[in-house]
Amino acid sequence: MARIIMHIDLNAFFAAAEVLRHPEYKGKPIAVGGGNRRGVISTASYEARKYGVHSAMPSYMAKRLCPSLVILPPDFAYYKDLSNRFFQYIRKNYSTIIEPLSIDECFVDMTDALKDVKDVKGYLKKLQNGLLKEIGIGCSIGISTTKFLAKMGSDYKKPMGIVIIRKKDIPTLLYPLPISSFYGIGKKSTEKLKRMGIYTIGDFAESDSLSVKKELGKSYALFKDWIHGKGNDTVICEESNPKSISSSSTFLFDTSSYEEISSSFRELAKEVSESLIKKEMVALTVQITLRDMEFHTITRSKTLAFPIESTLDIYSQGMSLFEKHWKGNALRLIGIGVSSLHSKENYSVQLSLFDSLPELDSSTRYLIEKLNKKANKELFMIAKDLVKKKGGKNGT
Ligand SMILES: [Mg+2]
Repeated sequence: MARIIMHIDLNAFFAAAEVLRHPEYKGKPIAVGGGNRRGVISTASYEARKYGVHSAMPSYMAKRLCPSLVILPPDFAYYKDLSNRFFQYIRKNYSTIIEPLSIDECFVDMTDALKDVKDVKGYLKKLQNGLLKEIGIGCSIGISTTKFLAKMGSDYKKPMGIVIIRKKDIPTLLYPLPISSFYGIGKKSTEKLKRMGIYTIGDFAESDSLSVKKELGKSYALFKDWIHGKGNDTVICEESNPKSISSSSTFLFDTSSYEEISSSFRELAKEVSESLIKKEMVALTVQITLRDMEFHTITRSKTLAFPIESTLDIYSQGMSLFEKHWKGNALRLIGIGVSSLHSKENYSVQLSLFDSLPELDSSTRYLIEKLNKKANKELFMIAKDLVKKKGGKNGT
């Protein structure tokens, strides 16, 4: 039996999240992104979009288009929290078969939920308004029989769209759209396809040109299936993705040697990092486990403002937890792990928007924390934090 797939996408998520906690920005052109010279816009509010500001645009250019634009630095821990509440809302009220596609969008298998529903649009309107009430952020919804069509549906109308795509609607709804809006076809392919005379999705659907086939390679048949209403309708439940990755080691002899513990953490962090990289994931939470001779075990964790994957990052975050919580006692076992995992692909765009590489940032932080600890006062600080502390806005 055919499944009913919903794709749901939060509207201008990072910007909307900032407005939520800064009501003074409501109705104003704001953006989240890097504020310095090399900074890039991550998400712009709809008010800013009216000026032509869009994601991936250099911040200085955005400022030129819209001089009153306020650019706020990203706060992933806060967005992650809202995102969890978003998925939780769907899971609790509509369907447990959810596949997050990124921090602000997911596929949901709605076959059961919609089984006896006569007025599908009205039902989805309720979901949309409920979500707005629950977390304060609007969303767009696409619903169809495949993931591709559902995704195209939620993209079709923003903000607060609800678009149902039946197979027979494909030509009227999707064929007139520019080829660049075809989910899966990137910027480079778009340019090449245009040169081959493929300007719209309809051009592609109806073309059997060999050069188009050659350009898209393996994806050609897949995309053809998609646009003709065939393709994947299996929502992969989150449960099949790992929730956490960790590694631990027991010492041959109980030890209270800082050097030994530290170098052990380093090895474990390497294992965790390798496993993360192999799974093409990044993590937002780091935790450590310390067990002493009497088998008293403590675990401590922290959630970061940016996703990490490297050995150095996991190690330095773990060590800063260790230094905070270790009482100097002899340990039998130590462990380090990561959770709040996300596919790297979904985060890579956001990663590239950071002013500085997160890796550098976190190990610099670790070094600074260490130096300050030694000096016993806050001698060193990251310039970005100083700006924050002084109440300056990262928006010039
Ligand atoms: Mg979105």
